[in-house]
Parts: sequence; structure tokens; C-alpha cells
Amino acid sequence: LKVRSPPELLEWHGHGTTSHFSEIVLGRCFTYTQIIRPELRDEDCQKIVDAFKSAFLSKNPCNITKEDYQPLIKLVTQTIPCNKTLFWSKSKDLVHQFTWVQREFFTLEDTLLGYMADDLTWCGDPSTSDLNYQSCPHWRTDCSNNPGSVFWKVISQKFAEAACGVVQVMLNGSLTEPFNKNSTFGSVEVFNLNPEKVHTVQAWVMDDIGKVSSDSCSGSSLNELKSIVRERKMAFICQDNYRPARFVQCVKNPEHLSCRSGI
Ligand code: NAD
Repeated sequence: LKVRSPPELLEWHGHGTTSHFSEIVLGRCFTYTQIIRPELRDEDCQKIVDAFKSAFLSKNPCNITKEDYQPLIKLVTQTIPCNKTLFWSKSKDLVHQFTWVQREFFTLEDTLLGYMADDLTWCGDPSTSDLNYQSCPHWRTDCSNNPGSVFWKVISQKFAEAACGVVQVMLNGSLTEPFNKNSTFGSVEVFNLNPEKVHTVQAWVMDDIGKVSSDSCSGSSLNELKSIVRERKMAFICQDNYRPARFVQCVKNPEHLSCRSGI
């Protein structure tokens, strides 16, 4: 007779490690390096996945540091061409639909490390060398130094530091604050751009189709971004409803008035 053991009390408030995490990140690494960007075909995916897991396995998932991810960062060297870095905030679906078509632009999730980790959850536990599939710390309610948040912070910082020429950011014009200084873009990425390499920051502020289009570029939120960028000695350009991205939105809403005539 099998007796079901009582359900374990969950340690943390966030989702546990994504099922098949190791297989997914290894598979994504091969897909990316062999098919999507074959110029990276000589990268050692097994070594990369091992370095990824070593950053957080057998460690307290609330005490992860930037240093824990350094071996992984050092292992992967990918250069993004000047003028092709695309940041985003609160516009994840649209920005990735856009880069899927306009392949020369790179969001963080179009780089190897971002691609491997996007939409996944992972953490370990100091008492075992296993992944914790039950629960992981939630970044708001448990702790900010969890494996996921620290990873995104580290790779977002590297991504911004490496940018050159003109950089773009896609923001959500349907929000009262399209630019939020507490977001990763507003707190990490803008401040890690190197003004000696980046001459211009260009914002594309995209309204949801169907919502009244607002002139977000002249609002207080975008003004705050403009001040930060100018203070840091870079030029600032802002466009409401950048046409190529509007066309992507229009694929799903071809009959909408703003998709029928001149936008
Ligand atoms: P955002 O507010 O739209 O957040 C993007 C995603 O990251 C959301 O799913 C959000 O829940 C999550 N997130 C934000 N801060 C987090 C934190 N401290 N810990 C865990 N998850 C967090 O926009 P944003 O904050 O400006 O981040 C987007 C920018 O930063 C992009 O330019 C990208 O390069 C990078 N980034 C990407 C991811 C990702 O999940 N792909 C996560 C964080 C940051």
C-alpha cells in the first residue's frame, strides 16, 4: 500500500524552477548557436549551462551576488553591432514581435544568455545540489537578491555597457508612466550606457491599438528620461508610434482606423 506523504509546506512565494530547466536551457543554447546565430557555433553549450547552474546551485537563493554569475558572463562573448541595441520596458510582446521581423535589431532576449533564460524560473537550495522545483523566492515578497533578479540585473548591465552608436528603447505609451525609473531600463540600463560610445538615445513610444493615442513624447514621464539622457551627455530623440512597429501591431488589428489610413 502506497501512502501519499503530506504536501510539503512551500518555502518561498514564487513559482519553483521551471520543469526540465536544464534540458530547456541546453536545448535553447544549441538552437541559438547552431541555427539562429551560427557565427556562435563554436560556443560550448554544455560548459555554458554548467556555469549557469553553478552560479546558484547549493546556495541560499536570497544571497545570490553579481559575482556568482561572473564565470558565466566571462564564458560568453557576443558583440552586438553599433546602432542595433534595442531596450524595452512594459512592451515585451511587441518588441519581440518586432525583432522577429527586423532581425538586425537585438533585444537582450535576442542575445544568447537572454534567449536561454527568457520566461524561465530557477533556484537551488543550500542543503542540496538539486534545483528547487517546489518554489523560488519572489522578487517582491521574498528577496531581491534571488537567482533570476540578479541574473537579469547582471546581463542587463553588461548589455547596456556594451552598446554603441544610437540605442533605441521601446516604451508603452498607454501607461501614465511609459518611463519608470524603478524599472530595469530606468534603473540599470540607462545608467550603464557609456556616453563615450553612445551618442543618442532614441525612444519609440508605442500606444496600444484601440486606446486613445496620447502624445507621450511631450509628457512628464518622457521628459524625465530626456533629462537623464541629456545630463549624461547624450542626445535624446522621441517618436510616438514609430511606424515600423505600428505595422506589427496592425497585423492583429488591420481594420482599426489607425491601421487603415496614414498613421
Ligand atoms: P518591465 O517592467 O516590463 O519588466 C520586464 C520583465 O522583468 C517583467 O516580466 C518583470 O516582471 C520582470 N522584472 C522586472 N524587474 C525584475 C526584478 N527585479 N526581478 C525579477 N523580475 C523582474 O521592464 P524593465 O524592468 O525595464 O525590464 C526590461 C529591460 O530590462 C529590457 O530592456 C531588458 O533588456 C531587461 N530585462 C529583461 C528581462 C526579461 O525577463 N527578459 C527581465 C529584466 C530585465
